[in-house]
Amino acid sequence: MGRKFFVGGNWKCNGTTDQVDKIVKTLNEGQVPSPDVVEVVVSPPYVFLPVVKSQLRPEFQVAAQNCWVKKGGAFTGEVSAEMLVNLGVPWVILGHSERRALLGESNEFVGDKVAYALSQGLKVIACVGETLEQRESGSTMEVVAAQTKAIAEKINDWSNVVIAYEPVWAIGTGKVATPDQAQEVHASLRDWLKNNVSPEVADSTRIIYGGSVTGANCKELAAKPDVDGFLVGGASLKPEFIDIINSAT
Ligand code: PEP
Repeated sequence: MGRKFFVGGNWKCNGTTDQVDKIVKTLNEGQVPSPDVVEVVVSPPYVFLPVVKSQLRPEFQVAAQNCWVKKGGAFTGEVSAEMLVNLGVPWVILGHSERRALLGESNEFVGDKVAYALSQGLKVIACVGETLEQRESGSTMEVVAAQTKAIAEKINDWSNVVIAYEPVWAIGTGKVATPDQAQEVHASLRDWLKNNVSPEVADSTRIIYGGSVTGANCKELAAKPDVDGFLVGGASLKPEFIDIINSAT
Protein backbone atom coordinates (compact mmCIF):
# COMPACT_ATOMS: atom_id res chain seq x y z
CA MET A 1 0.00 0.00 0.00
CA GLY A 2 1.32 3.49 -0.82
CA ARG A 3 2.11 5.60 2.20
CA LYS A 4 1.65 9.32 1.59
CA PHE A 5 4.71 11.35 2.55
CA PHE A 6 4.10 13.28 5.77
CA VAL A 7 5.90 16.39 6.98
CA GLY A 8 5.17 17.75 10.44
CA GLY A 9 6.54 20.99 11.86
CA ASN A 10 6.89 21.11 15.63
CA TRP A 11 7.28 24.75 16.65
CA LYS A 12 7.70 23.71 20.30
CA CYS A 13 7.47 26.60 22.82
CA ASN A 14 8.52 29.26 20.33
CA GLY A 15 7.00 32.30 18.70
CA THR A 16 5.49 35.74 19.12
CA THR A 17 2.50 36.97 17.13
CA ASP A 18 4.85 38.72 14.70
CA GLN A 19 6.99 35.64 14.23
CA VAL A 20 3.91 33.47 13.75
CA ASP A 21 2.65 35.87 11.05
CA LYS A 22 5.99 35.60 9.24
CA ILE A 23 6.11 31.81 9.39
CA VAL A 24 2.53 31.50 8.14
CA LYS A 25 3.30 33.91 5.28
CA THR A 26 6.32 31.83 4.27
CA LEU A 27 4.26 28.65 4.39
CA ASN A 28 1.44 30.19 2.39
CA GLU A 29 3.75 31.47 -0.32
CA GLY A 30 5.89 28.33 -0.65
CA GLN A 31 5.83 26.21 -3.79
CA VAL A 32 5.10 22.67 -2.65
CA PRO A 33 3.79 19.42 -4.17
CA SER A 34 0.04 18.77 -4.20
CA PRO A 35 -1.70 17.41 -1.09
CA ASP A 36 -2.11 14.12 -2.98
CA VAL A 37 1.65 13.72 -2.70
CA VAL A 38 2.49 15.17 0.72
CA GLU A 39 0.54 15.79 3.90
CA VAL A 40 1.77 18.84 5.81
CA VAL A 41 0.89 19.43 9.46
CA VAL A 42 2.29 22.30 11.54
CA SER A 43 2.17 22.38 15.29
CA PRO A 44 2.25 25.81 16.92
CA PRO A 45 1.87 26.32 20.68
CA TYR A 46 -1.76 26.05 21.85
CA VAL A 47 -2.27 29.81 22.08
CA PHE A 48 -1.51 30.29 18.39
CA LEU A 49 -3.53 27.30 17.11
CA PRO A 50 -6.72 29.22 16.20
CA VAL A 51 -4.91 32.02 14.39
CA VAL A 52 -2.60 29.67 12.51
CA LYS A 53 -5.49 27.41 11.57
CA SER A 54 -7.52 30.33 10.25
CA GLN A 55 -4.67 31.93 8.26
CA LEU A 56 -2.88 28.88 6.91
CA ARG A 57 -3.42 27.68 3.35
CA PRO A 58 -6.25 25.16 3.47
CA GLU A 59 -4.25 22.12 2.36
CA PHE A 60 -1.92 22.46 5.38
CA GLN A 61 -3.27 21.16 8.68
CA VAL A 62 -2.49 21.94 12.30
CA ALA A 63 -1.60 19.81 15.32
CA ALA A 64 -1.49 20.48 19.03
CA GLN A 65 1.75 19.55 20.80
CA ASN A 66 0.02 17.62 23.57
CA CYS A 67 -3.36 16.97 25.15
CA TRP A 68 -4.70 15.64 28.42
CA VAL A 69 -4.91 11.89 28.98
CA LYS A 70 -8.67 11.75 29.51
CA LYS A 71 -11.81 13.85 29.49
CA GLY A 72 -11.28 17.45 30.59
CA GLY A 73 -12.34 18.75 33.99
CA ALA A 74 -10.44 19.71 37.13
CA PHE A 75 -6.95 19.52 35.57
CA THR A 76 -5.52 23.03 35.86
CA GLY A 77 -3.25 23.99 32.99
CA GLU A 78 -4.24 21.09 30.75
CA VAL A 79 -5.98 21.13 27.37
CA SER A 80 -8.31 18.27 26.53
CA ALA A 81 -8.74 16.29 23.34
CA GLU A 82 -12.39 17.43 23.31
CA MET A 83 -11.29 21.08 23.19
CA LEU A 84 -9.01 20.40 20.23
CA VAL A 85 -11.83 18.64 18.40
CA ASN A 86 -14.15 21.55 19.24
CA LEU A 87 -11.65 23.98 17.68
CA GLY A 88 -11.32 21.83 14.56
CA VAL A 89 -7.71 20.87 15.30
CA PRO A 90 -7.30 17.50 13.58
CA TRP A 91 -3.90 16.32 14.87
CA VAL A 92 -1.98 16.07 18.13
CA ILE A 93 1.67 15.20 18.83
CA LEU A 94 1.97 12.81 21.80
CA GLY A 95 4.93 11.32 23.61
CA HIS A 96 7.51 13.84 22.44
CA SER A 97 10.84 13.07 24.10
CA GLU A 98 10.93 16.50 25.73
CA ARG A 99 7.70 15.66 27.55
CA ARG A 100 8.88 12.14 28.38
CA ALA A 101 12.16 13.46 29.81
CA LEU A 102 11.16 16.80 31.35
CA LEU A 103 7.62 16.01 32.49
CA GLY A 104 8.07 12.35 33.30
CA GLU A 105 5.59 10.94 30.79
CA SER A 106 5.91 7.15 30.94
CA ASN A 107 5.30 4.71 28.09
CA GLU A 108 1.98 3.71 29.70
CA PHE A 109 0.85 7.31 30.12
CA VAL A 110 1.66 8.04 26.47
CA GLY A 111 -0.23 4.88 25.44
CA ASP A 112 -3.27 6.07 27.42
CA LYS A 113 -3.05 9.51 25.84
CA VAL A 114 -2.85 8.08 22.32
CA ALA A 115 -5.87 5.85 22.98
CA TYR A 116 -7.94 8.67 24.43
CA ALA A 117 -7.06 11.17 21.69
CA LEU A 118 -7.98 8.62 19.00
CA SER A 119 -11.24 7.80 20.78
CA GLN A 120 -12.20 11.48 20.50
CA GLY A 121 -11.48 11.59 16.77
CA LEU A 122 -8.02 13.16 16.78
CA LYS A 123 -5.20 11.90 14.59
CA VAL A 124 -1.96 11.26 16.46
CA ILE A 125 1.73 11.74 15.75
CA ALA A 126 3.17 9.35 18.34
CA CYS A 127 6.85 9.90 19.14
CA VAL A 128 9.32 7.20 20.09
CA GLY A 129 13.11 7.18 20.29
CA GLU A 130 16.16 6.21 22.31
CA THR A 131 18.67 8.30 24.27
CA LEU A 132 22.37 8.32 23.38
CA GLU A 133 23.11 6.09 26.36
CA GLN A 134 20.53 3.56 25.19
CA ARG A 135 21.91 3.61 21.63
CA GLU A 136 25.45 3.13 22.86
CA SER A 137 24.41 0.21 25.05
CA GLY A 138 22.80 -1.48 22.02
CA SER A 139 19.21 -1.24 23.27
CA THR A 140 17.73 1.09 20.63
CA MET A 141 15.24 -1.39 19.26
CA GLU A 142 14.28 -2.69 22.68
CA VAL A 143 13.46 0.86 23.83
CA VAL A 144 11.55 1.82 20.69
CA ALA A 145 9.64 -1.49 20.73
CA ALA A 146 8.63 -0.99 24.39
CA GLN A 147 7.38 2.53 23.61
CA THR A 148 5.40 1.26 20.61
CA LYS A 149 4.07 -1.76 22.54
CA ALA A 150 2.64 0.53 25.24
CA ILE A 151 0.61 2.20 22.48
CA ALA A 152 -0.29 -1.06 20.70
CA GLU A 153 -1.70 -2.47 23.94
CA LYS A 154 -4.20 0.38 24.13
CA ILE A 155 -5.42 0.78 20.54
CA ASN A 156 -6.93 -1.36 17.80
CA ASP A 157 -7.13 1.04 14.89
CA TRP A 158 -3.85 2.43 13.57
CA SER A 159 -5.31 4.27 10.59
CA ASN A 160 -5.06 7.66 12.33
CA VAL A 161 -1.59 7.16 13.78
CA VAL A 162 1.75 8.31 12.41
CA ILE A 163 4.82 7.08 14.30
CA ALA A 164 7.66 9.58 14.62
CA TYR A 165 11.02 7.92 15.27
CA GLU A 166 13.02 10.63 16.98
CA PRO A 167 16.33 9.57 18.50
CA VAL A 168 16.74 11.82 21.53
CA TRP A 169 20.42 12.40 20.75
CA ALA A 170 19.44 13.91 17.40
CA ILE A 171 16.76 16.30 18.62
CA GLY A 172 17.85 19.92 18.57
CA THR A 173 21.52 18.89 18.58
CA GLY A 174 22.43 19.31 14.91
CA LYS A 175 23.51 15.64 15.05
CA VAL A 176 21.19 14.02 12.53
CA ALA A 177 20.91 10.23 12.21
CA THR A 178 22.53 8.98 9.03
CA PRO A 179 20.08 7.76 6.39
CA ASP A 180 21.24 4.20 7.14
CA GLN A 181 20.73 4.60 10.90
CA ALA A 182 17.21 5.95 10.32
CA GLN A 183 16.36 3.25 7.78
CA GLU A 184 17.59 0.51 10.13
CA VAL A 185 15.28 1.58 12.97
CA HIS A 186 12.33 2.34 10.68
CA ALA A 187 12.60 -1.09 9.06
CA SER A 188 12.85 -2.79 12.47
CA LEU A 189 9.85 -0.84 13.73
CA ARG A 190 7.86 -1.85 10.67
CA ASP A 191 8.87 -5.43 11.31
CA TRP A 192 7.78 -5.08 14.92
CA LEU A 193 4.36 -3.84 13.75
CA LYS A 194 4.14 -6.75 11.30
CA ASN A 195 4.86 -9.33 13.99
CA ASN A 196 2.98 -7.73 16.85
CA VAL A 197 0.06 -5.91 15.26
CA SER A 198 -0.53 -7.02 11.66
CA PRO A 199 1.11 -7.03 8.21
CA GLU A 200 -1.55 -4.54 7.01
CA VAL A 201 -0.77 -2.06 9.80
CA ALA A 202 2.96 -2.47 9.16
CA ASP A 203 2.43 -1.71 5.46
CA SER A 204 0.13 1.25 5.88
CA THR A 205 1.45 3.07 8.96
CA ARG A 206 3.70 5.97 8.20
CA ILE A 207 6.97 6.04 10.15
CA ILE A 208 8.54 9.48 9.96
CA TYR A 209 11.99 10.55 11.15
CA GLY A 210 12.72 13.48 13.46
CA GLY A 211 15.98 14.89 14.80
CA SER A 212 17.96 17.77 13.26
CA VAL A 213 16.32 17.44 9.84
CA THR A 214 17.25 20.39 7.61
CA GLY A 215 16.84 21.49 4.03
CA ALA A 216 20.36 20.17 3.44
CA ASN A 217 19.97 16.62 4.79
CA CYS A 218 16.31 15.80 4.05
CA LYS A 219 16.67 14.48 0.50
CA GLU A 220 19.01 11.63 1.40
CA LEU A 221 16.86 10.61 4.37
CA ALA A 222 13.66 10.79 2.30
CA ALA A 223 15.17 8.43 -0.27
CA LYS A 224 15.18 5.56 2.24
CA PRO A 225 12.31 3.13 1.65
CA ASP A 226 10.99 3.08 5.22
CA VAL A 227 11.30 6.83 5.86
CA ASP A 228 7.81 8.14 5.14
CA GLY A 229 8.43 11.75 6.02
CA PHE A 230 9.68 13.95 8.84
CA LEU A 231 8.87 15.61 12.13
CA VAL A 232 10.87 18.82 12.06
CA GLY A 233 11.62 21.05 15.03
CA GLY A 234 14.04 23.96 14.59
CA ALA A 235 13.94 24.02 10.80
CA SER A 236 10.13 24.20 10.79
CA LEU A 237 10.45 27.82 11.96
CA LYS A 238 12.56 28.73 8.93
CA PRO A 239 11.97 29.05 5.17
CA GLU A 240 13.89 25.79 4.63
CA PHE A 241 10.78 23.96 5.90
CA ILE A 242 9.50 24.43 2.34
CA ASP A 243 12.57 22.54 1.03
CA ILE A 244 11.86 19.75 3.50
CA ILE A 245 8.26 19.51 2.25
CA ASN A 246 9.64 19.33 -1.27
CA SER A 247 11.80 16.33 -0.40
CA ALA A 248 8.57 14.34 -0.86
CA THR A 249 9.19 14.29 -4.62
C1 PEP B 1 11.44 17.73 17.37
O1 PEP B 1 11.39 18.50 18.31
O2 PEP B 1 10.51 16.95 17.16
C2 PEP B 1 12.63 17.77 16.52
C3 PEP B 1 12.81 16.81 15.66
O3 PEP B 1 13.49 18.85 16.69
P1 PEP B 1 14.74 19.27 15.76
O4 PEP B 1 14.31 19.14 14.31
O5 PEP B 1 15.02 20.69 16.12
O6 PEP B 1 15.85 18.35 16.08
